[in-house]
Amino acid sequence: MIKMIKLPYSIDALEPYYSAETLDLHYNILYKGYVDNTNSTLAMLDNARKTGDFSNIKCLEKNLSFFGSGAILHQLFFENLGADIPVKPSLKLMKQISQDFGNFDNFKNQFVEAAKVVEASGWCLLVWVPIFNKLEILQCEKHQDLTLWGCKPLLVLDMWEHSYYLQYKTSRPNYINAFWNIINWNEVNKRFIY
Ligand code: MN
Repeated sequence: MIKMIKLPYSIDALEPYYSAETLDLHYNILYKGYVDNTNSTLAMLDNARKTGDFSNIKCLEKNLSFFGSGAILHQLFFENLGADIPVKPSLKLMKQISQDFGNFDNFKNQFVEAAKVVEASGWCLLVWVPIFNKLEILQCEKHQDLTLWGCKPLLVLDMWEHSYYLQYKTSRPNYINAFWNIINWNEVNKRFIY
């Protein structure tokens, strides 16, 4: 069984960049759905192992990847947001960003451009790829497609319409621009410890 994380801030803490109405729906309804569905999938897998009945295994494995990845990415997303946190990327992370993207502005520009054109429902992610020994940016479709195996998500941005439509309507660029005001770099820096 997995558990929902508690939001590390109040429901209106990210205003005006991320509205309380959106966050309430996103956290209390949608994120909860991913956690609940992950848990029911885990229970069904457990039952399949107990009974030896794997007739539904293809569906269960797909659900595990979809709902499980949804639960994980939402947890990372809510935790890499924050308000009034006067922390920047750590020296270590900045050094790696400079090495892999040239400088911070280049990194940000690529992230913004990649986020804008995520196809349909998905995510934009800054990831550490241990086997490549470098940072990269990924566009993820749904919650689980187009990953690099073994990568560690450092900073994630939800590009599903439910994450911005109420507040920003069809303007992905406005949502993406607002995001840079509510990044909790303290959390991102912690994830870049390897
Ligand atoms: Mn979402």
